[in-house]
Amino acid sequence: MRALQLVGRRRPPELREVPVPEPGPGQVLVKVARAGACHSDQHIHIMAAPGPPPGLATEPPFTLGHENAGWVERLGPGVTGFTPGEPAIVYGCWGCGVCPDCRQGRENYRRTLGGQGPGLGGGHDGGMAEYLLVPGSRYVIPLGTLDPRQAAPLSDAGLTSCHAVKRSLHLLGPGSAAVVSGAGGLGQMTIQILRALTTATTVVAVDTDAGRLETARHMGADEALPSGDDAIACIKDLTGQQGAELVLDMVGIDPTLRMAAQVASVLGHLTIVGLGGGALPVDFTSPPHECSVASPYWATLPELMEVITLARQQKIGMPVEHFPLDHAREAYQLLHDGKIHGRAVITPPRMSTDVNATRTHRRPVG
Ligand code: NAD
Ligand code: ZN
Repeated sequence: MRALQLVGRRRPPELREVPVPEPGPGQVLVKVARAGACHSDQHIHIMAAPGPPPGLATEPPFTLGHENAGWVERLGPGVTGFTPGEPAIVYGCWGCGVCPDCRQGRENYRRTLGGQGPGLGGGHDGGMAEYLLVPGSRYVIPLGTLDPRQAAPLSDAGLTSCHAVKRSLHLLGPGSAAVVSGAGGLGQMTIQILRALTTATTVVAVDTDAGRLETARHMGADEALPSGDDAIACIKDLTGQQGAELVLDMVGIDPTLRMAAQVASVLGHLTIVGLGGGALPVDFTSPPHECSVASPYWATLPELMEVITLARQQKIGMPVEHFPLDHAREAYQLLHDGKIHGRAVITPPRMSTDVNATRTHRRPVG
């Protein structure tokens, strides 16, 4: 089968011919319907800094794609409970199952691995191929009525966003404010999850792109502001000069982190999700007193089940643009240039017949 592989550090990914994997004991082979192209892949293969980027546990070559949905193809010896052809989504933080963190359902923070899950498509073969071998059946979650050709972004863009919001939900009572800086793939999910899980929080989106701001409004943001000093002033005004209880930085570069420190409130949460490599200015008054800073990584398997529920209830969804595997590098280029409006999803060769054009637009999940 063909697979989009990272073959070396600081080298663009390459389409290569690789064997179709055979599921061993306890494993499941999934026929990939779509694999999402996440901005993290760019951090992985562009890699401005030497050394492995966050989450990259092993060396190339490996197949990219950590956001996958498809159909159960074949079960390894000992696996039961699935029907071949059943639509499923893949949880990507593959753990050992026996360390204290895995036992507590925190595969994303395995301290035996230095605090990070290994992550498929970030060291282990991911889903930008015809088939994906999943090492444990518990990581394959039935989608029920959801279409795997639309659902892939739930497993990272949706899941990471859900975890980032949920850890701060206790701050988001009536009258509170949440700022989402960067309304791309993750930011759009974050806005919808904030809308779904809070009752009377003012949700403010900030982005450099007018189209993304329009989408943010469409997805439930109360305010959508072009990034810059005016956005900072506007957020201060909206919050009676107090700042927002939660600031989610989905970009993570110097200017967005600087803004985050300025618009977060005393006792608030400043959550850095973006891997932009910027530095947060920290001194006694910045971020404000007792504002906690966190950098969450992906999320837990139970949270993926919650995300699937939200999608089934049509509370969250993602506009997807479909690209055949042969055009995956074009998708990454467009992502890099800020020209993907929701999520680019890659279609493996066998499935390409259901993509008439290189890019098709705006089909919500669900
Ligand atoms: P994306 O490219 O889809 O979205 C990024 C958005 O940020 C775009 O809308 C862009 O216009 C906007 N943006 C760029 N510069 C900006 C600025 N100065 N101010 C405001 N907005 C700006 O990317 P994505 O796939 O949504 O990923 C977002 C980030 O989250 C990436 O850095 C990615 O690596 C990271 N990520 C982290 C985790 C995690 O577990 N922490 C998981 C997935 C992705
Ligand atoms: Zn990702």
